[in-house]
Amino acid sequence: MYSDDEDLRVDRCCCGGNPQVESKYGSFFVICKECGCSGSSYPTQKQAIRSWNKKNRRIKGESEK
Ligand SMILES: [Zn+2]
Repeated sequence: MYSDDEDLRVDRCCCGGNPQVESKYGSFFVICKECGCSGSSYPTQKQAIRSWNKKNRRIKGESEK
């Protein structure tokens, strides 16, 4: 079994900032207020974070596990 908490950790932004999850009109997205970049909107917080982490890792050049 996997832990839900694991997925809910937002990776640090590539600018070094601490992104936050925000919700608007029932959808969730991750936004970094340091550099202003944001992820796509998703119906759940978990999906938004997952998508952000994936994109972020690609930018940093880390391979996905
Ligand atoms: Zn940033």
